[in-house]
Amino acid sequence: MALMRSMLLAASQNVWLREHAVNYPFVRRSVSRFMPGETLEAALAAAQALRLKNLGSVFTHLGENVSDRDEARKVTEHYLEVLDRIHQLNLSTEVSVKLTQLGLDLSPEFCFDNLIQIIRRESPSATVWVDMEASNYVDATLNIYKNALKNHPNVGLCLQSYLRRTQKDLADLLPLRPAIRLVKGAYKEPPEIAFPKKADVNENYFVLAQELLRAQSAGECSRAAFGTHDVALIRRLADFAGQQGYAKAILEVQMLYGIQRVEQERLAREGYRSIVLVAYGSYWYPWFVRRLAERPANLWFMLRNVFAS
Ligand SMILES: Cc1cc2nc3c(=O)[nH]c(=O)nc-3n(C[C@H](O)[C@H](O)[C@H](O)COP(=O)(O)OP(=O)(O)OC[C@H]3O[C@@H](n4cnc5c(N)ncnc54)[C@H](O)[C@@H]3O)c2cc1C
Repeated sequence: MALMRSMLLAASQNVWLREHAVNYPFVRRSVSRFMPGETLEAALAAAQALRLKNLGSVFTHLGENVSDRDEARKVTEHYLEVLDRIHQLNLSTEVSVKLTQLGLDLSPEFCFDNLIQIIRRESPSATVWVDMEASNYVDATLNIYKNALKNHPNVGLCLQSYLRRTQKDLADLLPLRPAIRLVKGAYKEPPEIAFPKKADVNENYFVLAQELLRAQSAGECSRAAFGTHDVALIRRLADFAGQQGYAKAILEVQMLYGIQRVEQERLAREGYRSIVLVAYGSYWYPWFVRRLAERPANLWFMLRNVFAS
């Protein structure tokens, strides 16, 4: 299982595969399970359908490691347009951005300016989420996030429970009253940086999540969101929140489009905040292969599509 994950994560960074695999119809059919389409219109239609089921949404325009300024500016302008469309349609959809897509590899200052433009276009009551990427970006991402948070409380950051450092990062952030989305982590990391055993990643998630719920109820964290499809973990969190006497709506779970749909709807029906992350765009290859790595059974689903009509 661990070997398969490593192989898939290596494949997610392979340029040849990225250029060729995306042209196979069976790969395209498989990715459609995880994204409603490549266009913003497809994402907006999905958000409207989700709203009917009382599910919130967060959009992310797929792409990473942009290598020239014009491209990063185009991504920024795209997000500004996305926010305008969301507001016109009166949707409560938020956005989640990758800093390497906003030019982090080119210049942290340039990336920061792009992020700030997006935050300013968002309504103060909604959150602009910043994804966390591979571990070599964590320090730069934290610096940009802390600077943005000084004047913009409506910015949130993703933290990863597989990283050994995250507990300390969270403790450093709490005095700033951050908004945090906690995930397990999706990149290939060495054991000195990330817990190699899944059980340790899960346990660290639970410890960090309890701390976040406590901080949120004490007003030290403006918003805590749990980005996971792990039903057992969500149940543990719901039980913990219940024991502490927290309102159900304090527990916000975010899942990816197309994964655990039944659970997404159950959480919404039972009074928890249930949000779906909708990814769209044509640069989906590395993102899609990371989804395969999370659950190798998805590979069989993809192979079945080879034979589908
Ligand atoms: C809203 C959101 C935002 C995210 N943002 C980031 C980010 O910024 N940085 C980052 O590193 N990672 C991010 N991730 C990915 C995250 O780190 C994990 O890789 C991913 O969520 C899988 O972990 P899990 O918590 O679902 O638990 P797992 O233990 O991996 O999975 C638990 C169960 O969920 C189901 N499941 C999980 N993944 C899949 C899948 N791909 N297909 C089908 N079923 C699946 C399976 O039933 C599995 O048994 C994000 C995830 C979500 C939901």
